[in-house]
Amino acid sequence: MIEVKNLSKRYGKITALDNISFTVDTGEVLGFLGPNGAGKSTTMNIITGYISSTSGTVTVDGSEILAEPKKTKQKIGYLPEIPPLYVDMTVRKYLDFMFDLKRVKLPKKEHVGEVMRLVGLEKHGDRLIKNLSKGYRQRVGFAQALLGNPPVIILDEPTVGLDPKQIIEIRKLIKSLGKKHTVIFSSHVLSEISATCDRIIIIADGKLVADAKTDELSSVLSNERELTAVIEGKASEILAELKKIPDVTRAKKTESVSNNAGRYSIEYKQGADVRREVFNAMARIYCPILELKAGTESLEELYLKLTSETKGGEA
Ligand code: ADP
Ligand code: MG
Repeated sequence: MIEVKNLSKRYGKITALDNISFTVDTGEVLGFLGPNGAGKSTTMNIITGYISSTSGTVTVDGSEILAEPKKTKQKIGYLPEIPPLYVDMTVRKYLDFMFDLKRVKLPKKEHVGEVMRLVGLEKHGDRLIKNLSKGYRQRVGFAQALLGNPPVIILDEPTVGLDPKQIIEIRKLIKSLGKKHTVIFSSHVLSEISATCDRIIIIADGKLVADAKTDELSSVLSNERELTAVIEGKASEILAELKKIPDVTRAKKTESVSNNAGRYSIEYKQGADVRREVFNAMARIYCPILELKAGTESLEELYLKLTSETKGGEA
């Protein structure tokens, strides 16, 4: 349904997007996850035709956004990070206005009514948008995106600034949209993406760093390439010895467990098994291993690691 190919975007010297490619299937709810500044809004603004890319293409349902902007835009309902609402209009007036602007060819009164019902605004049609709470304003933005029943719905951080109850309602709404639409939903909060989406794409620093089904993400990210060990002895000696093991790519002390024991993270090359070498190495320097286990990090920890590594800090 959506094909993003080799997308890059530069703002002067800043590379906001660096050669991103992915596809979204019809009916899929795709989570677009990444920390602030990762390039989520930039990507969504390009897909929806609001800004142009420096290079790369976006195809929606067979039409290319740059070649056929009008036709392509009609296939997409977009809720930008800051929805452009006319706050002096009533909810219904605004939706009528957007209906006309989008040149929707459906029976107006019925369609606007249906969309308002879908997002829970049916009792608020006569209220001025400026008097609505943030959660209700967000619903108006949602309603606007749904006008014309576009097959693709793109939502840029739709839950930011909402309270927990509103967040749950919006998530429910997104899930229900997935039955009829292809949805891309961005957020910097992993838990809400994993609770709502079938598939997750993670971007950091303008690069795509993961693309996996939600329930497979954990194993994709971890690759089981890390051991956690509690070892007794001097940290400098332990680390020096661990780093001598050929397949170990990184070793660091993560915390002190007691006076003379610490917890260590030992990362190793994919496909290797360094447990015996770690055992032998520690035995050589008389540092007993008190605990040794395969890295069982939470998805949250993996996400944090993944998105901080691309900042190009430590090697
Ligand atoms: P996100 O939505 O993931 O928070 P953005 O797509 O808004 O990230 O931003 C990605 C990067 O591009 C950031 O470094 C941001 O500062 C930069 N950026 C975004 N828009 C502009 C712009 N109009 N001019 C210059 N830099 C921009
Ligand atoms: Mg953004």
